[in-house]
Amino acid sequence: MSAPIYNRVALIGLGLIASSMAHAMRADGLAGEIVGHAKSDETRKVALQIGICDRVYATAAEAVQGADLVVLAVPVGAMAAIAAEIGPHLAPGCTVTDVGSVKQAVIAAVAPFIPQGVHFIPGHPMAGTEYSGPRAGFATLYKNRWWLLTPDEATDAEALARLRSLLQAMGAKVDTMDAAHHDLVLAVVSHTPHLIAYTMVGVADHLAQVSNSEVIQYSATGFRDFTRIAASDPTMWRDVFLTNKEAVLDILGRFTEELFVLQRAIRMGDGDQLFDYFTRTRAIRRGIIEAGQDTSAPDFGRVPAVAVDAKA
Ligand code: NAP
Repeated sequence: MSAPIYNRVALIGLGLIASSMAHAMRADGLAGEIVGHAKSDETRKVALQIGICDRVYATAAEAVQGADLVVLAVPVGAMAAIAAEIGPHLAPGCTVTDVGSVKQAVIAAVAPFIPQGVHFIPGHPMAGTEYSGPRAGFATLYKNRWWLLTPDEATDAEALARLRSLLQAMGAKVDTMDAAHHDLVLAVVSHTPHLIAYTMVGVADHLAQVSNSEVIQYSATGFRDFTRIAASDPTMWRDVFLTNKEAVLDILGRFTEELFVLQRAIRMGDGDQLFDYFTRTRAIRRGIIEAGQDTSAPDFGRVPAVAVDAKA
């Protein structure tokens, strides 16, 4: 067991991301105590039942009192109202971070409510599953995954180092970057791929109605991974697209252009072009495995790991 890095951590929102943080902090004694708040009675009750919180509160304002770390782990669209509520109740010297998948919009929503003497350090764990809620969390979610922080020039170095040490102790690899750059990178590696998965599953759904569900029956191919991604939480993803609009539209425009290039190659029977294109993309996949961000196991090695962990 390590010495606690924070005395009292307040988790606002008790879903997959917060619950996984709680499990990881508990596993290694990284927080003196963990308190929490979620919107519904049911989620607060479950959080106590499964032991991710020592105490839960009916309001976010009560939950943050006396905390030296506050983690905003609600959907991006709910951040502003929560920040307005907790602002006057934050303890001097405490750190507020968030885990929102979009950074510029969250900073615009939260920063105006952070009082002098409180450190706001925006963040985003690059880890998740398609499951939601407090029961979906597990201690190893962040192991060897990137956790991006987007501090600015005014960020207190000591507060940043302390937060970094917590995230690293939970197994994450921490990097810092500019918020606008974060949003563009995420539009490429996460947001647009999710939109494509949602669309592909939607297309297949229409098709299923004219082909007696063959799409479902034979889905043990690439399509199955699309359905896994397209099962992700609708509230979270609605908010991501509404708040990272510009970057997603930029990447979608580029995607559409590439799609037309491939469409033309297929129409013209240009096998060389298709082969070259797929050779380049295969190299990217190899790079991801070499960087330790996925496994080369068939089926991405995900099915047993995620299904067992997430339901634990
Ligand atoms: P989740 O499992 O759906 O949990 C969301 C939690 O927020 C629930 O406890 C919910 O309470 C609570 N909540 C929602 N609106 C609230 C409000 N107005 N006031 C108080 N509590 C509220 O979501 P998650 O996957 O943990 O995602 C949380 C954040 O992490 C999001 O900002 C998301 O963008 C980010 N993120 C997610 C992933 C991922 O893959 N899931 C990855 C990286 C970052 P109830 O249960 O009572 O409704």
